[in-house]
Amino acid sequence: MALITQAIKGTQDVTPAESYKFRFIEQTCFETAHLFGFGELRTPVFEHTELFERGVGDTTDVVQKEMYTFTDKGGRSLTLRPEFTASAVRASVERGLIYDALPVKACYIGGCYRSEKPQAGRYREFHQFGVELYGAAAPAADAEVIALGMSALTELGIKKISLEINSIGCPECRAQYHNALREYYNQHLDSICDTCKERLERNPMRLLDCKAECCKEIAANAPRILDYICDDCRTHFNSVKTYLDAMGIDYKVNPSIVRGLDYYTRTVFEFISGDIGAQAAVGGGGRYDSLFRLLGGPDTPAVGFAMGIERIKMVMEAQGAEFPEPERPSIYLAPMGEAAIARCMALCRQLRDEGFAAETDLNGRSVKAQMKYADKRGFRYTCVIGDSELESGMVRIKNMETGEQTETNLATGILETLYDIGLSATLDNLNAAMEGFSGASDALSALLGDDD
Ligand code: AMP
Repeated sequence: MALITQAIKGTQDVTPAESYKFRFIEQTCFETAHLFGFGELRTPVFEHTELFERGVGDTTDVVQKEMYTFTDKGGRSLTLRPEFTASAVRASVERGLIYDALPVKACYIGGCYRSEKPQAGRYREFHQFGVELYGAAAPAADAEVIALGMSALTELGIKKISLEINSIGCPECRAQYHNALREYYNQHLDSICDTCKERLERNPMRLLDCKAECCKEIAANAPRILDYICDDCRTHFNSVKTYLDAMGIDYKVNPSIVRGLDYYTRTVFEFISGDIGAQAAVGGGGRYDSLFRLLGGPDTPAVGFAMGIERIKMVMEAQGAEFPEPERPSIYLAPMGEAAIARCMALCRQLRDEGFAAETDLNGRSVKAQMKYADKRGFRYTCVIGDSELESGMVRIKNMETGEQTETNLATGILETLYDIGLSATLDNLNAAMEGFSGASDALSALLGDDD
């Protein structure tokens, strides 16, 4: 039975004990994207294989070795998405987004599938948060997208992350650089790995991020793209840096960042963490002005990034960032005897309608066993309802933390008691919000030069 009792290698089940962490990350990412004006784009998990072959690039590892491709019943070749960018471009053309107000600002979160060798931080099913900005060629768009990525990570409580940026030029200046690289690597053919020997002719820049030890050394002394980029590309890169400086975003220029994917132009960047071991890339992206045309769409400048949700979680855990725990359930109603079951179910329904997390017994267990369950699950209040409570119309609500009991009316008192608790929780939230507001207004006063 091993086949049906084990998940597929490289995939993960996320139980409720962990899933709230992912939900917090996802929610924070979407909220940050929303602040920048990005709306969620959802695309199918599978697409025509050709979309990824062309859109990701058929010289990449992703296309050559890692895609989950299958033939469907109609004989079509389909592939589980290894990333979102190609799908997002297809959808934006097909659904006409790029013919509407520009720039288009789209964000997404979802599963990606790559048949890589699983290890810590590397899975066959993983999840990405990403954003894509279409229709803006100016360097401000690059800086804006980078700022969004940084804001999301900061908002999640990640204090230490390095942003590394580079420019890989445009197709024109890159041709010259490719020649210089081929010339250089041809002098070192004996020292590089076999894969790199094959790649040298078609895609020499890929040699720069080869992970083989023998290639790393050679790559360190290879010609640098920044010495070859044209004036326009240089001006663009300088402006991106100026805008990052203006926003107070730290970065390091790293000439060896080329990204594994063929469609990038000009700006490329990575978010790197020193806290999660070998798979240190938390996210990466860049500008890809030629992808729309490559996929048969109209010329449209584009810039974006993708981050791995699992890696974000790893960094947060390594740095001790906080994950707000889900609220404890409000009340457990423990029926004692047959008549009380129906009453408890009806009460639960009423309480849930009012927004309180309420549960009752579904197993026909003894009150003692029910209390054990309520305690384990962390209910804030419990209330036993048996024949005598039904007769007297009065119940006792027990605070599970203090053990304190409050006597109240069965018909209306439970809700009232919980409202009292609910109200004070709401007041706490309100106070916290007011503190935030006064902080914001202080900042505004400072900006406006108001000394009071
Ligand atoms: P890429 O599309 O390769 O640039 O990947 C973007 C981000 O997705 C990376 O920086 C990682 O955080 C994440 N990622 C990529 N591949 C995997 C994988 N196999 N397992 C987990 N996360 C991944």
